[in-house]
Amino acid sequence: MPVAENAPPVRSRLRAEIPDRFKWNLHDIFESWDAWQAAYAELERGIDKYAQLKGSLSQGTEQLLAAFRLSEQLGQLAYKVWYYPSLLYDTDQRDNTVNARRQQVQILFARWKQAESWFNPELLQIPLETIRTWMDGNADLAVYRFAIEDLYRQQEHVLDEAGERLMSLASRLASSPNDSYWALSTADAKFPTITLSTGESVTVSYGQYRAILATRREQADREKAFVALHETYKASLNTYATLYNGVCQRDWFQARARGYATTLEAALHGDNIPPSVVENLIETTRQGVAPLRRYHQLRRRVLKVPSYHVYDLSIPLVTFDKKYGYDDVLDWIVDAVAALGPEYQARMREGFAGGWIDVYENDGKRSGAYSAPVYGTHPYMLLNYTDTLDDVFTTAHEMGHSMHTILSHETQPFIYSNYTIFVAEVPSTLSEALLLEYMLARSTDPIERAVLLQHAIDNITGTFYTQVLFADYELRAHRLAEQDHPITADILTEIYTQLLKDYYGDALDLNELTGLTWARIPHFFNSPYYVYQYATCFASAARLAGEISGPNGASARTRYLDLLRSGGNDHPMEQLRKAGVDLSQPDTVRAVVDQLDDLVTRLEQELAKL
Ligand SMILES: [Zn+2]
Repeated sequence: MPVAENAPPVRSRLRAEIPDRFKWNLHDIFESWDAWQAAYAELERGIDKYAQLKGSLSQGTEQLLAAFRLSEQLGQLAYKVWYYPSLLYDTDQRDNTVNARRQQVQILFARWKQAESWFNPELLQIPLETIRTWMDGNADLAVYRFAIEDLYRQQEHVLDEAGERLMSLASRLASSPNDSYWALSTADAKFPTITLSTGESVTVSYGQYRAILATRREQADREKAFVALHETYKASLNTYATLYNGVCQRDWFQARARGYATTLEAALHGDNIPPSVVENLIETTRQGVAPLRRYHQLRRRVLKVPSYHVYDLSIPLVTFDKKYGYDDVLDWIVDAVAALGPEYQARMREGFAGGWIDVYENDGKRSGAYSAPVYGTHPYMLLNYTDTLDDVFTTAHEMGHSMHTILSHETQPFIYSNYTIFVAEVPSTLSEALLLEYMLARSTDPIERAVLLQHAIDNITGTFYTQVLFADYELRAHRLAEQDHPITADILTEIYTQLLKDYYGDALDLNELTGLTWARIPHFFNSPYYVYQYATCFASAARLAGEISGPNGASARTRYLDLLRSGGNDHPMEQLRKAGVDLSQPDTVRAVVDQLDDLVTRLEQELAKL
């Protein structure tokens, strides 16, 4: 495949020296700060106007419709008012003036939230039957049917006024375990310094730890970093366990107060997802750990290490430093989605043409990558492209999000233009899957092929198996709280160690620090019952990608594009079911297991050629 033979010229880290076609154009949002200021003032006036609608809903169709319409106007304006300073800030986070404007918007949003807090309780005072009659008699109001019915669906877990007041007072304590977790693991953490085999001395922050695990080929260096970092967690392990107990007790308090049978049920109710989806995910994955173990046994052999530990999981099997120039890969990303049709490709090409994407790093720029859905303009993508293979896949990933945004925004009324996390990672994952198949089909270099296969496998182990293991852990720990069992450092470490044994079997050697890794995973503390969605999205995308490239491709393509166009117009399980994915079925999950099995076999064959 065509790859830039020579190293690219050294790029400037000065933003002014980067050509415009590699930078996003924020003038598509506002022409100037004056225009932004005017929109801000308009939003502010609208918020005041909205607050004055309080008490009007029971008067009938027109009043309810007026409230919905004003809310939509404000919502659309808010996207632009927020993203203009926010995107600019991300290109140089040292800019205090822009940061102040960004914070000014956040403060306005907090006021807005207060100004509209009357709406839901007031609407719910009106019997649903009455609202249904209104909707039947007015097509404009009927647009809001799903949103309205969903609000009533959730009503059974809304308390009376006194109860809601208590819950709202208690909510100020709710973030305490997580806030303390960050203070302990970041602000107050003292990261140790180690000396690597090369003589370099490195302070093992989490970022450095990850870098060492991914790049240092001396196992002793990886081990040193692992021990150093995890000893800091061990030193405060009882405190971490106490904080995690706080998370579980808080979740159980909130679930019980609102009348849910379990913490899982409470967490899934908002998106109307049955708990059996998570239980099926965990159960089926547990039955499908054989290819995971086979992969790690293969790694152990190839890496030629005497024992194989968690700190050996992410070092690449082969050394590979091929560069992928940004301009060279855009055509691949577009060609790779040919199965989604020429119109889809044309839209994508438009996105790559300029103005949407901030491609390269510069001083002060935010790290990482994202796609921002700026309603009324177009998606904006932030990248930090450094010509690595990972960057190529990140570009495809974010473009998948952007295409979802475009199709959803142009098809749905504003109220349903936003999609849930439960569906969001399907198009991004699917874009990556199609790109991988495309590149594998064209690459003749056995080293590159092995690297591509490893990339695909690591995606499955990292985005699927690891996240299911995490969900499994969260479920077990929360059940302890639900059953009035104690939650201590020893107990959490025992659960985590058992999970590693259940998933990895003999493929992984455990040491005395492995079991306390739970203390290092921020998701457990800041967003319980969240990560399973990476796994369900992965399974959904794998299913759809397989179908789109298969014999019933045309029908699968239509169902898939309809899914993207459907935004948030239904509950996510229902949206996926319409697209042909049933996450309550073990088969859907098992397809990922089979895919991993196949990829490991292909990797074995490629490695044998080297
Ligand atoms: Zn994503």
